[in-house]
Amino acid sequence: MVEYRVIKAGDGTWRIEEGYVRIFLLEGTERAMLIDSGMDIHSAKEIAESLTDKPVSLINTHADFDHIGSNAEWDKVYMHPEEEGNFRANGGTSEIIPVRDGDVIDLGGRELKIIHIPGHTPGSIGILDRNARVLISGDPVQKGRIFMFGEYRSMERYVEGLEHLMQYAGEFDELWPSHAEIPVYPALIGDLCDTAKKILAGEEFSYTEEFMYGENVRITDTGYASFLLPSDN
Ligand SMILES: [Zn+2]
Repeated sequence: MVEYRVIKAGDGTWRIEEGYVRIFLLEGTERAMLIDSGMDIHSAKEIAESLTDKPVSLINTHADFDHIGSNAEWDKVYMHPEEEGNFRANGGTSEIIPVRDGDVIDLGGRELKIIHIPGHTPGSIGILDRNARVLISGDPVQKGRIFMFGEYRSMERYVEGLEHLMQYAGEFDELWPSHAEIPVYPALIGDLCDTAKKILAGEEFSYTEEFMYGENVRITDTGYASFLLPSDN
């Protein structure tokens, strides 16, 4: 039995914490949307259906293994089409309903707008809950460990993605990431973007090294978040 905690986070809004990862459930008047589906939880649909009587769809912020634990419970899943490679590599079998930058999904009186934030993975998206002025941001903007090593990651696209996201900064007051502290605030986007640019420019940061998932990883601590980068060694 995987342990999790359900926290009411507003009207028709819940967050479900499973260890270091969290998922969100947003309810409109017609339907509900689960945002990500857990890591070791494989029954997120049942959990969501115990909280809302509306039909529950699933959208993935991206398809890393710690975000798609219950995907098999849905035949069709909303996702950015650029995420398909990562999704299939992590065992995802559901059909993909493509969502792209600027798309709006209406849950009934509650509009969710998609913002493409590539870099951490090619099809990473943020989901803007327009009424609440909250951006559910997945992994690119957070105060924990931002994985930037291995296939599908790109620091160049990460910088582009954050610069794109900053254009929407007037539309939200808080960001709710999948990991670490919640909420975080829009100023963090610029801080992460600046640091990422400096790393790309070759500026030296203090770091530690760790062996994980079969490779040496350089953990660059920025003071407010860590970038996990491929090691030169
Ligand atoms: Zn994650």
